[in-house]
Amino acid sequence: MKLDMRKIYRFDPLRIGEGEPMPSGGNVYYECTECREVVSSVPHIIVKCGCGNLEGKAGKLTIKDAGKATPMKGTLK
Ligand SMILES: [Zn+2]
Repeated sequence: MKLDMRKIYRFDPLRIGEGEPMPSGGNVYYECTECREVVSSVPHIIVKCGCGNLEGKAGKLTIKDAGKATPMKGTLK
């Protein structure tokens, strides 16, 4: 079952500087710019975006191509 996070959260892109670590946290989400899917930065269930760029489980997200992922702050609507 796929849940459209955009129906629950409002997302604002996070700016990260050159060389800064990719942000992570309970209110941080990543949008895959390849398939437009949004996943949590601390996924507790197994998640995988449509194209496989973002994959995670057990609270850890793996980003294969960081150039195709946009970190965003999620706020409950
Ligand atoms: Zn993807």
